[in-house]
Amino acid sequence: MKAVAELCIDFDAYFEFAPPTVIVRPDPPRFTIIAANDGYLKVTKSSWADLEGKGLLEAFPQNPKDATTTNNVASLRESLTKAVITKLPQELPSQKYDIPVRGTDQFETRYWKATNSPVLNKQGEVTCLMHVALDISEAIQIAQKERSALEMSEAQRKSLQQMEERLRLAVDSAKMGTWHIDLKNGNITTSLRFKELYGFNPDEQFSIDDLFNIVGDDYRYRVTSAIKAAIEYRKPLTIEFPIIGRHNQKLRWIRATGKHYEAEDSQPSNYSGTVMDITERKLDEIRKNDFIAMVSHELKTPLTSVKAYVQMLTGKLKNSGDNFSMVALQKVHVQIEKMHTLIKGFLDVARLEAGKIQLNLQNFVLSELLQQAVDEVEGLTKSHQFILDLCDSVTVNADKDKISQVVNNFLSNAIKYSPHGGLITISCAKHDGMVTVSVKDTGIGISKQDQERLFDRFYRVESADTRNISGFGIGLYLCAEIVERHNGHIGVFSEQGQGSTFYFSLPID
Ligand code: ADP
Repeated sequence: MKAVAELCIDFDAYFEFAPPTVIVRPDPPRFTIIAANDGYLKVTKSSWADLEGKGLLEAFPQNPKDATTTNNVASLRESLTKAVITKLPQELPSQKYDIPVRGTDQFETRYWKATNSPVLNKQGEVTCLMHVALDISEAIQIAQKERSALEMSEAQRKSLQQMEERLRLAVDSAKMGTWHIDLKNGNITTSLRFKELYGFNPDEQFSIDDLFNIVGDDYRYRVTSAIKAAIEYRKPLTIEFPIIGRHNQKLRWIRATGKHYEAEDSQPSNYSGTVMDITERKLDEIRKNDFIAMVSHELKTPLTSVKAYVQMLTGKLKNSGDNFSMVALQKVHVQIEKMHTLIKGFLDVARLEAGKIQLNLQNFVLSELLQQAVDEVEGLTKSHQFILDLCDSVTVNADKDKISQVVNNFLSNAIKYSPHGGLITISCAKHDGMVTVSVKDTGIGISKQDQERLFDRFYRVESADTRNISGFGIGLYLCAEIVERHNGHIGVFSEQGQGSTFYFSLPID
């Protein structure tokens, strides 16, 4: 082979364009720098003045804050020494070697792939060493990022697995059953506990309709339509109902919850949930309701006769001129009415929860019912102003008495929870096969937090504004049950201190 210089190469020109290179003397352990090309100065962020005449390891000392570089500095010195002794090029492993930020005591993280090649003269003696250093920091950083992403997804997978395990533990210890409907083909899969609760054999297969068939007769239609609607409209589900076990004919009360899950990479979209045995609690509730129903019923009879005597006395006193007794009797009358409403409320709750509320459906014109309800309250109270904004004659097929009960409850709450002189607007509007009635007041309003629980049984807002207003928190609960049994919707818009708008919608043909 011919010497390179004899061929065509001008070494100085080559040196300038070569990869980052520094030339050092073969004087271990110093390795004095004698030349460096622009590429090397650039990549090490150094100027020639920073390097000239210095030992290579003196110009690039160890970063004292990085313990890992100790070996790298040593291995660079060892590699250079080896190149001098063996007269053979030495390749260093890819490694971290931080470079000094000139003019400060700081260092910058860098990764390098370097080779140390001896240059020999004609006598075979090493005249200098060429240290070529390729900066591979970017590639290393990309690899590190990928690795940490991989590690992260591994960590995520582990924490998901742990969460799943915890969830399974919770489900098992709460003795819950689980169910899962594949929305693509409508197939249902259930856990063993689910089958046990529903009285199926462990290896038995069944369809959703088989499940609906073992729901108690009084509840079947309601449960079937609620579950079907929840699945169709992808809404969350919470429902309580009795079942008669498939093979053991055992009565159990079940609380079922469900939620829609969107399709993911490998999973089709599904509707899944849990079932729980709430028989004990439900039977307790039923006993309590029976007791309340019995007591309320027993209170009703004496109260009716007290009411009759008060009416008789009022009649007798009318022309007697005994004003004090008249006023006292009127007050007794008001209190009896309050007690009567209360007892009626308790009886309604008890009946409703025993599934004994029947709807007597009939066609009637909604605006007439609203007009009548407003006329009645206007006759009884002069404390508030009423505005009616009625829709044209919309006929609904509903239980007239129960819808009146809902409207009256909205109106009496609007009066109770807004100041004297307040404006109460009753409106009615038709849209998308529904009609919506709303009662708007300018009263104390309700916080967002309370709004979520307002339609729960016995829920009352606890605040300085409501402390002195009597009530038991059953009115809205009854309203919600009545509206839901009509396949309607009930709700409220309100802001604290800004008044409230209670509304309900009913389906129309
Ligand atoms: P009650 O009024 O007998 O307590 P309800 O079930 O009718 O029972 O109402 C539940 C609670 O909702 C009330 O205690 C009250 O705090 C709140 N509420 C109902 N209607 C209104 C309204 N129009 N404005 C403000 N708060 C209301």
